[in-house]
Amino acid sequence: MSSELQVIHSEILECTKCELHKSRTNAVPGEGPYDARIMFVGEGPGQNEDEQGRPFVGAAGKFLTELLESIGMKRSNVFITNIVKCRPPNNRAPRKPEIEACNPYLQSQIKLINPRIVCALGTPAITTLMGDEYSASRFHGKPLTKGGVTLLPMYHPAATLYDASLKETLFHDFQILKKLLENEEALHPDAPKLVESSEKKQTLEKWV
Ligand code: URA
Ligand code: SF4
Repeated sequence: MSSELQVIHSEILECTKCELHKSRTNAVPGEGPYDARIMFVGEGPGQNEDEQGRPFVGAAGKFLTELLESIGMKRSNVFITNIVKCRPPNNRAPRKPEIEACNPYLQSQIKLINPRIVCALGTPAITTLMGDEYSASRFHGKPLTKGGVTLLPMYHPAATLYDASLKETLFHDFQILKKLLENEEALHPDAPKLVESSEKKQTLEKWV
């Protein structure tokens, strides 16, 4: 990990900038390569994440790994984090002041990792990264370029626990992610390959 990112992660582990620090077991800064080209941003740690200090290690994490594998990617190749780094009590939604207090960490992570694509998982992550007018239901699968980074909003993998039909939607949106990546690779042919695929015909325009 880059030393600057390491410094931020140490700060997160000791942070007391919002109420959520009081009930956490472990803060969860996030994990993945410091130069990952794809970042996933979820809502916040749940019970398993709080206990282990790692993001997406429960049921939602298992499904995220499956989604990644469906497009030939490994979890170890992507950076995974959340809009708040400490677990909201009883898994309630993170509140605005908590999200705002924690947002500078997320912004620093994005700046230092400098990914090509940031996937926002679920409406809280989508509004935090894209603005209050965005939501998963209306904007999932529709990439938006902002400040040199492509943002791709998606449903949260945990949403499929309440509505199984969203599984198919997520698998479909991961195909869009795959196309965006292939497009990136076509633009930067010398960069290491992320997706094992030979079909690079489709252009970005088809997907936006
Ligand atoms: N759900 C999230 O939003 N983040 C995690 O880290 C785990 C589950
Ligand atoms: Fe600090 Fe973020 Fe944890 Fe709040 S959620 S205590 S801002 S690290």
